[in-house]
Amino acid sequence: MGARDTELADFRRSAISPSRLRLFCYCESAAVLERQASRDDPWLTTAALRGFLRHEIHAKEQIALLGQLEPVEVWTVGEAMDFVEITIRRALRQRIILANSANIRTFCTIVPELVPGRGCYGYPDALDCRNGASPVVVEAKYRMFAPLGPAWTADKIQCAAYLAGLVELGFTDVHARIAYRDSCDRGGDVSLSYTAELEAKLKAIARRLDSVEKGLDEPVSGDPSRCPFCMFRYICACCDRPKPFPPPG
Ligand code: SF4
Repeated sequence: MGARDTELADFRRSAISPSRLRLFCYCESAAVLERQASRDDPWLTTAALRGFLRHEIHAKEQIALLGQLEPVEVWTVGEAMDFVEITIRRALRQRIILANSANIRTFCTIVPELVPGRGCYGYPDALDCRNGASPVVVEAKYRMFAPLGPAWTADKIQCAAYLAGLVELGFTDVHARIAYRDSCDRGGDVSLSYTAELEAKLKAIARRLDSVEKGLDEPVSGDPSRCPFCMFRYICACCDRPKPFPPPG
């Protein structure tokens, strides 16, 4: 491993992931529990596994449309950002969708410094470049019941982190599309713009996450009405809320 290898690898190790920001926004305690639980069992619920598999099928179909992909190695944050920008601008010219599966990544989003001394690195589900003008982040969210109204705050914050990465590359007027789908594949799409208000909220949540992860602040449990649907409800000791279903096994 050369010195250049260390820079990007180190950045990624310390970076905040947009999906962690989403979970932290949902419940700070859940984000802390995820760090412990995912080391042993990344699939704590069948719903999470089902959503993953549906995404993988869809992503692989879209990746297949891109033809033969050549592996690319980059070593620094700057190189990675340059490469991603070139990839997105080419995709806009070709009016195609860039998609990410679990093992094939066609692009990423990078924010070099989301909070002081710490960046953000993540892989949106897809980037729709078919309008030829500005890339649209696409996030698919599979839910037992897809929301009919506005997007959930936690989903907005995750998308905001991806949009911040596009802004860092010089793209302006960026948008996201959150595709909510229920177990029967019904649902609707919610559009999201990267406003100054959303940016401020993203940075405030990222600062708080950073502070909790560094042990400077205690995590706060979220809305108790979410606990019956939380994948960590059987291992959550941060509250004595009733556990409505018997634990598995
Ligand atoms: S059970 Fe409730 S308090 Fe505990 S992590 Fe889940 S949502 Fe948060």
